[in-house]
Amino acid sequence: MSRLTDMLWTRLTGMMPGELDRSEFIWLLSPHTHFQLLTRRRATMIVNRVRILALLFGVLTPLWTLIDYFVFPTALWLSLAALRISASIAFFVIVVCYKPAGRMGDAYRAIGLLFAVPTVFYVASHQMLAGMQLSGLSSAIATGYAFLPFVLLAGLSIFPLTVAESLMVSSPILLAHLLSGYLNWPTLEWPSYAGAFWLMTLITGVSALAGISQLAFMIALVRQAIRDPLTGAFSRRSGEEILELQFALAERNNRPFSVAFIDLDHFKSVNDSFGHESGDQLLRAAAQQLAGALRRSDTLVRWGGEEFILILQDTRSECAHQFLERIRSQGLGMRPDGSPVTASIGVAERTQDQCHHWQQLLELADRRMYHAKACGRDRVVGYLEQPEALPEPCPQAS
Ligand code: GH3
Ligand code: MG
Ligand code: MG
Repeated sequence: MSRLTDMLWTRLTGMMPGELDRSEFIWLLSPHTHFQLLTRRRATMIVNRVRILALLFGVLTPLWTLIDYFVFPTALWLSLAALRISASIAFFVIVVCYKPAGRMGDAYRAIGLLFAVPTVFYVASHQMLAGMQLSGLSSAIATGYAFLPFVLLAGLSIFPLTVAESLMVSSPILLAHLLSGYLNWPTLEWPSYAGAFWLMTLITGVSALAGISQLAFMIALVRQAIRDPLTGAFSRRSGEEILELQFALAERNNRPFSVAFIDLDHFKSVNDSFGHESGDQLLRAAAQQLAGALRRSDTLVRWGGEEFILILQDTRSECAHQFLERIRSQGLGMRPDGSPVTASIGVAERTQDQCHHWQQLLELADRRMYHAKACGRDRVVGYLEQPEALPEPCPQAS
């Protein structure tokens, strides 16, 4: 039985987007476990796409008035034109008012609004056209108004959405169609009603697949962009973004927040004596050692050559110190000559060091790291060991 399920699972995952690791498939289902940087980029992309689509609709919607003018009676044309202009204004309001701020709440609201405008337009135009006895060309043009829900469902395909989100966005449109069938039950033309519903379901499926494929590509791209290729740690740019986000969160919730600056000792001599490749290997091993010691909420960033940063969320100064001491005493691997790799570490904490900006906190950790170097390397320097807190300055190391 388990072999059968294994086989089915392998077959199923074989059909999944190849650019993702198995552990990342879950991110295609729902947004709950997405990492912060993915959420931010996705929210920005969705808001921008909503604006592009709103711009397109805003321009195209009033243009159709020209066609309406030739086929509908003047009174009907006037009310439809007013409706189209109102819809167009609403679309332009979306374009102007929504600026991407990296929050998914904004992205959902933007999609909701983008879909609400044509929905209101559809219901209102349906009311206007329903009372009319139209024939020939005007009847054909009036039928065109009924295609709007299909356009909406197809429009879903330009957003990188998860399965759950696609269902959330498309289900109101599908439910509205079911409801209209229920309300018109006695006079319902079954074949065309059921045909339209089936078509809507198909379009929803295809759009959802398109959205999920986009999301898969996005996850792969974001993963590549935010990691340093040599060590697998976060890159400096994404590290800055994480620091900014998490510092702001800690400040808002008045929680402790520690940052450690780690610089490997005498690293250049490894390059000089054993070659650049050995240096690279040592960097990989040190990063692996550091990453292995972290909790889920901690972040390892490669800040530069042989410099790393540890971002320790919700961690008080003493705990950060203990944790870094443990890392330091365990060592960061071996040099090619068999001697241990050591590091000088500076650590700072938001509340204890009274820092109001993440750059300030990082600068302090950096200064303390230099102090650790000056005191002889292979040590951790925090609030208590900093020069101002010491009775006598440390002697300069040779
Ligand atoms: P200290 O104990 O004072 O920190 O001495 P150090 O030798 O570690 O520091 P220094 O800043 O003098 O040298 C850092 C070296 O790291 C210089 C540079 O060539 C090397 N480096 C930077 N990036 C890489 C990399 O990606 N791979 C390798 N192999 N070496 C790198
Ligand atoms: Mg350095
Ligand atoms: Mg160094």
